[in-house]
Amino acid sequence: MLKAKLYLTKAAIILLPFFGILLLLHFTLPKVAREYSREKFGQIDLSEHESKHFRIYTKQIPLSAEKIGLVAEEFFLAFQKTYGKQLNYQGLRNIIEIFFFGKREEFDNYYENRFHKELPNNAAYYNPVNGKIVLYWTNLPQSKQTLYHEMTHMIWDQALGAYNPAWSFWLNEGFATYIEQCSIQNGEIVPAEFNIEIRDLIKKAYEDRNFIPLEELCRSSHEDFQGERNYLYYYESYLFVFFLLHAEEGKYEKSFYSYIEKEITPGSCPPHLLWAELGKSPSELENAFLRFFQIDMLR
Ligand SMILES: [Zn+2]
Repeated sequence: MLKAKLYLTKAAIILLPFFGILLLLHFTLPKVAREYSREKFGQIDLSEHESKHFRIYTKQIPLSAEKIGLVAEEFFLAFQKTYGKQLNYQGLRNIIEIFFFGKREEFDNYYENRFHKELPNNAAYYNPVNGKIVLYWTNLPQSKQTLYHEMTHMIWDQALGAYNPAWSFWLNEGFATYIEQCSIQNGEIVPAEFNIEIRDLIKKAYEDRNFIPLEELCRSSHEDFQGERNYLYYYESYLFVFFLLHAEEGKYEKSFYSYIEKEITPGSCPPHLLWAELGKSPSELENAFLRFFQIDMLR
């Protein structure tokens, strides 16, 4: 017994420095990471603010870092309140860093230095590897939409049932694009009517035989969302998500959420599970989709 105690004391003495180092790292690493972020972002004209869930960095934007922190917090809490139950909300593990550039050129430079390629058309991105959101912010309503879009990606990746689930692209982009059209009222996310301009664009694509069959859409890849016709993928995915949440008095909504739960679960989630969950074949569902958006079916 005495021997055992002696061993324990010895072990404790040997391990003590390691615990000390761990403790030190625990407190210094976040500081080093923060300093690294600041440096990469550029220290000139930098403003910073930390709120409950976010660390905001801004550069030459017309809003203070504190104000924009409130915008982010408001959206985050509204998302949790509106979708927390259906989407198995679990909370964030870390403070999320969001960078706002007021100058497009600086945003582009930042992206190119990081990824060694250009970012055509997009004014923002969410990086699932480090959880950061980076935006070009102009104060126009579109900037807020962009923020909501990227924050939705972040929440889906970091705050739902699993960390970094392998989302299907149509679902991930379709839902984020759906959310960017929404507004916040009384602390909840309120959906907008479907976007007529987007519907007209997809209607035209259908008439020109450029429509992507829903079955194909659900198998789309990262490249499809990056390529020349990427707007078709984004917009059709958005309309499909809208359809699944609202069409025919919301009759697909519950099955749609069950399918999302399957996507969150680790492992692959082939599209046939979607058709099975909805109890319809892809072509039956596509016909209902076209009818709902008043797109006349081609013969
Ligand atoms: Zn996106």
